Amino acid sequence: MCGIVGFTGKLQAGPILLDGLSKLEYRGYDSAGVAVRDGSEDPVVVKAKGRLSVLSAKIDGGTAIPGTCGIGHTRWATHGEPTEQNAHPHVSEDFLVVGVHNGIIENYQELKEKLIGNGYTFYSETDTEVAVKLIDYYYKKYKVGPIDALAKTMVRVRGSYALAVMFRDYPGEIYAARKDSPLILGVSEEGCFLASDVPAILKYTRNVCYIDNLEMARLTADKFEVYDLNGDVVRKPVKEITWDAEAAEKGGFRHFMLKEIHEQPHAVEATVNSAVKPAAQAEGLEAAPEKVRENADELLEIDLSACGLTEEIVKTVSSIWMIACGSAYHVGLAASYVIEDLAQIPVRCELASEFRYRKLMPGPETMAVIISQSGETADTLAALRKAKSLGIRTLAIVNVVGSSIAREADHVFYTLAGPEIAVATTKAYSAQLAACDILAMYFAKVRGTIGAERLQELLQEIRKVPGKIEKVLEDKERIQWFASKFAHMNDAFLIGRGLDSAVCMEGSLKIKEISYIHSEAYAAGELKHGTISLVEPGTLAIGVATQPAIYEKTLSNMVELKSRGAYLMGLTVYGHYAMEDTAAFTVYVPKTDPLFTANLAVIPLQLLGYYLAVNRGEDVDKPRNLAKSVTVE
Ligand code: GLU
Repeated sequence: MCGIVGFTGKLQAGPILLDGLSKLEYRGYDSAGVAVRDGSEDPVVVKAKGRLSVLSAKIDGGTAIPGTCGIGHTRWATHGEPTEQNAHPHVSEDFLVVGVHNGIIENYQELKEKLIGNGYTFYSETDTEVAVKLIDYYYKKYKVGPIDALAKTMVRVRGSYALAVMFRDYPGEIYAARKDSPLILGVSEEGCFLASDVPAILKYTRNVCYIDNLEMARLTADKFEVYDLNGDVVRKPVKEITWDAEAAEKGGFRHFMLKEIHEQPHAVEATVNSAVKPAAQAEGLEAAPEKVRENADELLEIDLSACGLTEEIVKTVSSIWMIACGSAYHVGLAASYVIEDLAQIPVRCELASEFRYRKLMPGPETMAVIISQSGETADTLAALRKAKSLGIRTLAIVNVVGSSIAREADHVFYTLAGPEIAVATTKAYSAQLAACDILAMYFAKVRGTIGAERLQELLQEIRKVPGKIEKVLEDKERIQWFASKFAHMNDAFLIGRGLDSAVCMEGSLKIKEISYIHSEAYAAGELKHGTISLVEPGTLAIGVATQPAIYEKTLSNMVELKSRGAYLMGLTVYGHYAMEDTAAFTVYVPKTDPLFTANLAVIPLQLLGYYLAVNRGEDVDKPRNLAKSVTVE
């Protein structure tokens, strides 16, 4: 959360900072600010409450504050209300130190008292102002320079931070420090950049460098240097970003979310194709039985060599923990059904924020599967570290290449969803689910719990999922119509059993997070243990029933709700037309293997959430109180 950006070089910094922040606004949007320096003049600091557009108007798109060196911030408040006073940049006396921060300084109270004892005063409620003034304190006390002051601050503070700081005595220079919050550096002919995420600087450069935890950097107009905590220079490779800037633009769609919903066939296809390949390209063909080999043209294999998950490793795994937050946790829930069904291995799902603080007893060969779109989610990163400290093997399913989780996990299965900008995830969710399906098939194959023919059948089928998602999207006008009819509603309940219950959890989150309609997901059998008392005449109840073995059970639960006055929407697979006898409005998804229906059934619910929010006039891509990439605990 929070986006930070910095530039020093030959161009005017103001417009570059605003442009960069506009690409990071998904990370926070309650206030924003910039500090720009013209040569050795003091920085001009301008801040504004509200969206970035308010700040932009205040400084004429950045042109009103001349200077070629500056830092900027878009905030998702953790400490102190979203006011202009609390907005970043924060400054020490006489602008000696000016800084922006993403993260939380956990011991800020204690440090604040120490600084007050040393004569410092505070104008804001933020933890960031404390960090900036602590840097100022060490800078003045030891007089060794910015890197030393930053290093001393880093040793003293607890918590997480990506910091970008300018020192009055060092015109044209920006200093940075990082622990557990994302930060990248970029370099071009025009100058040096820093940002929380690649899209912020992609317009200017494709050459980026990832700073590691507890490292610092010094940016000047023509180069950057990275330092460790001792102040020694660390050599860092510069990597080239291969995806283009348009991937992070709306491309004619009204919202990023709608664009990303439509990108799902491609996201799933790319992810599947990265691991499911014609058998000739993958190992193991020799081992395939005669009957399967006859059809060698069609034969598919799973190739997870890119993530180093060999058959030998998989054979040693005896249980799996799926650990994630939010929608990624819902992926874990759905995956647990598929993995247990196919690979017959016990799976436990944990919310990362809980996992990190509970007493755990891993089995001798437990493997942790960590799921995160950004690869920077604070709780998930902490859970990964905890899993590692317990000595268990870790596999990360991550979308952002080079992110912290990707770098720290033992194995990484990259989802190829491309940059996801909308706060409400869609394409990353679908790509994560496909990755988990592949993992389930791979475990089943290695553990010998699936026959060669059934495996082939499933591999062929997963390759058809993108086309089937396309089909669901073609039917979006029906959902749009339904959403316009129900946009006024106050409550929605989603029920389903088994894999469908996991779909309901994600569907419910999609509805509530962007439309602000209260919505709850329940395992269909659970509703009558309390929650059914909330159902009133006209309450919307959505029954998801795609699993043949339990279809009728869910239908019965839907009838129970109808008997209490609920308006029923049914979501099932083509062929289950009896749903129309029960539900007032039915949505069908194409037939696929029951293990993969979650990949299709979630799409109408994403569309429903989207269109409900649009109908209610909500800001779909930037829902209130939220931000993407939750880098605070
Ligand atoms: N803790 C800082 C503030 O509240 C930064 C918040 C964040 O990174 O989300 O201003």
